[in-house]
Formats: sequence, C-alpha cells, structure tokens
Amino acid sequence: MGLNSSITRYNNLFLNSVLSNLKRAIDLGGFGEEFFTYLSHPMRTVSVSIPVKINGTIKIYEGYRVQHNNALGPFKGGIRFHPEVTLEDDMALATIMTLKNSLNGLPYGGAKGAIRIDPAKVSKEELEAVSRGYARALVQFIGPDIDIPAPDLNTNPQIMAWMVDEYSKMVGRNAPATFTAKPVQLWGNPVREYSTGYGAALWTRNAARRFLKGIEGATVAVQGFGNVGYWLSHFLTEMGAKVVAIGDIGGAIYNPNGFNPDDVKATERKTGTVANYSGSGVRKIGMDELLTLNVDILVPAAVEGVINYSNANAVKAKIIMEAANGPVTADAEEVLYKRGIYVFPDIGVNAGGVVMSYLEWVENLQWFIWDEEETKKKLDYMITNAFNRVYDRWQKMSGATIRDAAYIDALDRIYQAMKWRGWI
Ligand code: GLU
Repeated sequence: MGLNSSITRYNNLFLNSVLSNLKRAIDLGGFGEEFFTYLSHPMRTVSVSIPVKINGTIKIYEGYRVQHNNALGPFKGGIRFHPEVTLEDDMALATIMTLKNSLNGLPYGGAKGAIRIDPAKVSKEELEAVSRGYARALVQFIGPDIDIPAPDLNTNPQIMAWMVDEYSKMVGRNAPATFTAKPVQLWGNPVREYSTGYGAALWTRNAARRFLKGIEGATVAVQGFGNVGYWLSHFLTEMGAKVVAIGDIGGAIYNPNGFNPDDVKATERKTGTVANYSGSGVRKIGMDELLTLNVDILVPAAVEGVINYSNANAVKAKIIMEAANGPVTADAEEVLYKRGIYVFPDIGVNAGGVVMSYLEWVENLQWFIWDEEETKKKLDYMITNAFNRVYDRWQKMSGATIRDAAYIDALDRIYQAMKWRGWI
C-alpha cells in the first residue's frame, strides 16, 4: 500500500498504519508529496516527567502531548492514561485528531496527550496528583486558543476537573475553555457523557440505511464496553437494533435474542466485567469469536489494531463501525475491501465526542449554558452533515474506501488553510 521510507521510519504498527492511510488518501486526492511530508511530522511534541510523592517516596510518570497540526485553529484532542502507551502511539492518535476535527468542520487542529499509568492500579490520591502534575507541566503549552485537552481512554470528567482546577490556579483565573468534557457543575454539558456513543449510533443508523436494510432488527457485536461501547449499544437498541454480543477485557457474552445494554452495564459496574452477566440464552464466548461473528454490524469500541491482517479474513460482519480510534489496521482494510466489507472510519464514527467538546468550548468562551435538547440538536446537525458529505464524496469515487473519502474531505480543508497561510 505505497509504503515508503517516511512511513516506515517508525517501529510502531499503529503509527505506520495511520501514515499509510494518510499517504494513500493524499495520493488519491492528488495533493502532492509535500503535503504528506508536512503531515507525517507533528508540529510539536512535548514530553514531560511528572513527579509525585506517595507515602514519602517520589515516583516519576512519563507524559506526552503531541500537537500535530494547527492550520485550522488551536490544537484539540484527548489525554489517554495507559501503562503501555508510547510516544509513537500518541503521534498516531494526534494525526487522527487533525483529520477528525477537520472532517467535522471544527475550527481546530489536532493533538493528543498520554500518560504512562495504569489508573486501575493507583489510589485516587495518586491519580489526582498525576493529573494535576500533567496540567502543571503543560501550562505554557495549553490554553483556550492554544491547545484544548479532553478525556480519552481511561480518563473522565473527574480528571478534567482536577486539571482545569490546577490550570486555573496556575494562570490566576477561571479558565473553563482550556479543557472539555468537564463535570456539568464545572462548566460541562450533560450531553458530553454520552456524545461519543450517541454520535457513533447516528453514524451506524445512517450507514445501515444505505448498506443494510436499515437499523431496525440489524444484529450488532460490540467490542469494548466503556463509555463509548456502552452508550453506543444503548442508543442502537433504542433505534431498534439487536446488540447480540458484547465484550470487554474480562471476556465476552452472546445472546442471539439481543441484550439490554443497561442491564449488562449494571453487572459490569458491580463486578468489573460484562463476562459475569448471565441470563437465559446467554453464552460466554471468546473475544476472537466476537470479532468473527456472523452479524450485520461489528463495532470495535476499545483500542487500536484489533482487526488486523491476521483476522481480517475471518470477519463475517457486513459493515464495521470504528468507534475506537484506529481499530482496523490499513492492511486489514485492504483485505476487507476486497471481500466487500465496508469500514466506516473513526474520524467520522467516533467524532461525537470532539464535536460535543467544541460545543462545550463555545459555551465556555461566552459563559453560555445550553440545555440538553438545544445541545443535542446542534450535535445531530454536525454529525449528520459529516456523514452526508463523506457518503456523497464516496459515491462519486471509484475504487475508494469510505476512509479514503473521509480523509480526502478532511485533507482538503487542511490543505486550503495551509495554502492561505502560505505554509505550502
Ligand atoms: N478523545 C476523543 C477523541 O478521540 C475526544 C477528544 C476531544 O473531545 O477533544 O476524539
């Protein structure tokens, strides 16, 4: 797939896969080699050491903030807490953010942050100290018109609250618009809690209308049952789909009659995994089985790379919705494309989170408060608009994946902004 030395300079499968998709779309869209050279290098990479004193002992956590590109506006993207996350993973995620923000018409560039930590293994005090330490270490690199972080994997409104509090203390004023997805009582918006899953459900319904017989009765397998996987399942069920398989890190469950996602979530909250959910017709399955079930829609909603070259041939779903960032590798997509399986890309499917973040930021900049209904209407409009744009573009192309169409749409806007600015 047109791998060249600027892609393979990294020893990181995720980053190589993202760069490979980028290269492919830049070639297909005829943007020129220079544009790829530009976008395959993040503009700024900040690496910090975060010291925390726990029981009299100093521990150092490693943190990053990759600011990939800001041609369209301030950098924007979440912060991931994960024990194995690397700087290259963060670069891949930041690149995806640049494209996602552009595709959805947001006035933002792309960024992503990460801290190498396993939040499940530390006390609440330690988590707070690390979160505050990260905000302190990055104080001069972030701000409402510089870079606006938000949550990602294993981060949440509480962590945003600690960070915005720390940042506000550092700058000596309330600075709500510096972080998004904050608690409702701290300048947040009630829609943000479910916005990513909700947006993914809207994309899935739109995709099902065009590629299946509609969402009503469509069978769905969901891998990952955190904030995104759960809310997506909740809304898809409300729309009439049948969520027949759900999996998380502790295992997976299958029920041909469909689950009530709220009941499964209650078990997961109590016991730590969906695998403990039981009931009539429910059978435990392995994660490999979940990914290769004969369903209409497969939704990877956890981490990158779960559908890869080794299992792409075994996938039986008709369409795949990337609710996670980068769950389908570039080489797997090539296999799936040849087999007639459509992949709907992360930069559209999971954009409900950052689109809602944008709305929260607009509220915060003006000290507005929008109610749930008003916010949801704006979110619906922006999500549907992005889907229609991608679908229309894809229909006019031949031999292109839906990701190609989405990437080209996103790249076009970035390219124009860079041209006007005189960067290219
Ligand atoms: N982490 C989310 C994403 O990958 C949300 C980012 C944001 O709200 O800034 O899109």
